[in-house]
Amino acid sequence: MSQKLILVLNCGSSSLKGAVLDNDSGDVLLSCLAEKLGLPDAYITFKFNGEKHKVELTAGPNHTGAVEALMEELKSHGFDSQIAAIGHRIVSGGEAYSESTLITEDVIAGIEKCIPLAPLHNPANLLGVRAAQNIFKGLPNVAVFDTAFHQTMPERAYMYAVPRELYSKYGLRRYGFHGTSYRYVADEAARFLGKDKNDLRMVIAHLGNGASIAAIANGVCQDTSMGLTPLEGLVMGTRSGDVDPAVFGFLAENANMTIAQVTDMLNKKSGLLGLSELSSDCRAIEEEAAKGHSGAVLALEVFCYRLAKYVAGMAVAAGGLDVLAFTGGIGENSDLIRSKVLGYLGFLGLNVDQDANLAARFGNAGVITTADSKAVAVVIPTNEELMIAHDTARLSGL
Ligand code: ADP
Repeated sequence: MSQKLILVLNCGSSSLKGAVLDNDSGDVLLSCLAEKLGLPDAYITFKFNGEKHKVELTAGPNHTGAVEALMEELKSHGFDSQIAAIGHRIVSGGEAYSESTLITEDVIAGIEKCIPLAPLHNPANLLGVRAAQNIFKGLPNVAVFDTAFHQTMPERAYMYAVPRELYSKYGLRRYGFHGTSYRYVADEAARFLGKDKNDLRMVIAHLGNGASIAAIANGVCQDTSMGLTPLEGLVMGTRSGDVDPAVFGFLAENANMTIAQVTDMLNKKSGLLGLSELSSDCRAIEEEAAKGHSGAVLALEVFCYRLAKYVAGMAVAAGGLDVLAFTGGIGENSDLIRSKVLGYLGFLGLNVDQDANLAARFGNAGVITTADSKAVAVVIPTNEELMIAHDTARLSGL
C-alpha cells in the first residue's frame, strides 16, 4: 500500500477523537476516542475493521500520551509511514481566520489570541496540535476552524445591538460554530440535487447534541443561530438556546445564583434535559414521549417550534428558500422531529412526504418533501472529518 493517509484530530479538554482517512476514497481506516484525559484512569479506544479495543494510558494520561498510543496503534497496522498530514479541528478562529490554514508558530499565536472566545476549546485544540507536532515530526499540520465559514456573514447579522465599543474592544459579536459541517452539507446538498450551490437559497439545520442552523446564499453563509458562544439559538441537548439575558439578574436576585452557576445551568442542565427532566438524548426523549411522559412531550414541542421559527428567520437571511437540509444525529435520524418541523412550514412551500421521510434515516440521504412542494427539504449526513481531511490534503500540497 502506498496511499497517502490523513490523520484528523478533534481535541476536547478531557478527550481526543481521531480518525485516519484515505483522502481519495474518504474511507475511515482507523478511529479512536481517548477519554478522561488529565485523570489517572485515562484510556483510549481504537476501532479498526469494526473491532474495538481499549488501551489504558497509564504512562501518559494526557493528550500527548493519547497521541503516542495512537502512533503505536498506527505502527501495528503499518499505517505510521503513510500518514502524510494532520488536520485539526479548531473551534474558534475569531475574525482572524476565514478559511483553513497550514499551522505555523504565527498561526498557533493566532489561535492563542482567540482563547477568550473559546476558553475551554482552543487550549485543548492546541494541546492536540503540540502533541501531533512532537510525535509526527516534520509532517504538515492544518487548522480547520468551526467559525471560518461564518466569516462571510454581513454586519447586520453578526452585530449585537449593544454599545459598539464592546465589539471593537473585546470582539463581542456573533461568530457561529459548526462551520465545517455547513460547508460540507451545502456542497453535498447541491451535488445531491444536481444544482449549482451558488444558485440555491439554502437553510441547513445541524442538529446534534449541540444544534444550530445557518442560511446560505450565493454559496456563502449569510447568518447562523449560534453567536458569541454556542449557547445562542436553538434548543439543544443540554443548552437552553435563546433566553432573555435578564435571567442572569433575575436568578441572582431570586435564586441567589452566581454568574457562573447560571452559565453552567444554561449550558449543561437546560435544553431537552432541562425541559424533560429526563435526558439530553433525543432518542430517549422520543421513546418516553411516545409513552406519554409529559416532560418529554414538552421538550419535543419546544425543540421543534423553536427550530421551525428559526427556519423561517433564516429564509429571510437567505433571501428566500429553495432547500432546507437536515443533518447531525437528530437531523439525519429523527423522522418525527423533521415531520413536526415541516408541519409548521407549509407556508414556505414545504410539504412532507412521510414515506420518503421514514426512508431517509441511518445514513441515507434523501428528499423528504412531495414533488409539488415549492421548496425542497433534504436529509444529508454530515462528514466533518472528510472536510477536514480534504482541506488538510489541499493545504499540504498532497
Ligand atoms: P454530536 O453533536 O455529539 O456529534 P450527534 O450528531 O451524534 O452528536 O447527535 C446526537 C443526537 O442524535 C442525540 O440526541 C441522539 O439521541 C440523536 N439521535 C441519534 N439517532 C437518533 C434516532 N434514531 N432518533 C432520534 N434521535 C437520534
